[in-house]
Amino acid sequence: MRPFSLRISVTDRCSLRCVYCRPANGFAFVPSQEILSFAEITSFVRVLKTHFGLAKVRLTGGEPLLRPRLEELVRRLADVGIEDLALTTNGQLLAEQAVTLKQAGLKRVNVSFDSLDPENFRALARGGELRRTLAGIEEALRIGLTPLKINTVVLRGKNDHEVLDLARFGLERGCPVRFLELMPIGVAAAEFDQYYVSSAEVRDRLSAGFAFTPLPQDPGEPSRDFVAEHRTGRTVTLGFISPYSQPFCSGCRRLRLSSTGGLMGCLLRPHGFPMAPYLRGRGEPDPEAIIAAIEGAVKLKRSNGEFIQPRAMVGIGG
Ligand code: SAM
Repeated sequence: MRPFSLRISVTDRCSLRCVYCRPANGFAFVPSQEILSFAEITSFVRVLKTHFGLAKVRLTGGEPLLRPRLEELVRRLADVGIEDLALTTNGQLLAEQAVTLKQAGLKRVNVSFDSLDPENFRALARGGELRRTLAGIEEALRIGLTPLKINTVVLRGKNDHEVLDLARFGLERGCPVRFLELMPIGVAAAEFDQYYVSSAEVRDRLSAGFAFTPLPQDPGEPSRDFVAEHRTGRTVTLGFISPYSQPFCSGCRRLRLSSTGGLMGCLLRPHGFPMAPYLRGRGEPDPEAIIAAIEGAVKLKRSNGEFIQPRAMVGIGG
């Protein structure tokens, strides 16, 4: 059995309000006293590592770089022996924090952004500044937080005309670019039909500039990756994450821990197991209840995806 990977949302707060992720208004952040402490998160990770061989953790949010002293959590998780310790960020605060995080044990970063045009960036993220994200990418590359992957959600009429530019951006910097299909989750469900673009269509557009050769598929990875050869002869890895047109549920070994300690076995379904009662308090938690919850979460996995997730993605962690 392949080992699990775990995505940990360290905060539901975000500096951006991406159109498909966080409602324009009315999203109430959870009270800060309900957010798991670093010690509680580390206890949970230790149980997964000891009893299930966890080797891969990704920190997410909200925007993980808004969590004060995130490097302390990175250090604790590195000490537990998590070898593949990664972060997904919008990049707005990355330039300032990259060195500290790398020194604490972070291995690599994925950066999400949806446009190379400063105005379109702001329109899609409803805030932020493209130049900050680009500075974050340059700094992370400079210090070797690599491979640094770029994640872009493609939206019809909003940024689908930019996919070739984004691929060339990755080519120039040696960064794999992954194009995500919009998921009808939370706030994105209402306008899904209007904005959804299939990976097949994105690949078609990219064919104007690149020739594709498939790479072997890792069953634990949602992305279908290709070596994409530009007409100059240079290559870049381009990936397609297609939860809607080509669900990858059958190979999924991901678990998710929300910022308040909700353990989820499936992103597409609202069900979760509250872990906070087992993690709160002094000392190491009794692993039995946590192990039972992990087994319950795994049972919620389905062999094929049905989207019945009403929560906004910003509160789950993507
Ligand atoms: N703030 C961080 C970031 O921007 O990467 C981490 C959290 S964000 C929720 C994680 C990922 O989820 C981002 O790449 C974002 O684009 C993606 N995402 C959010 N809502 C989505 C949706 N409805 N469909 C597809 N991807 C989505």
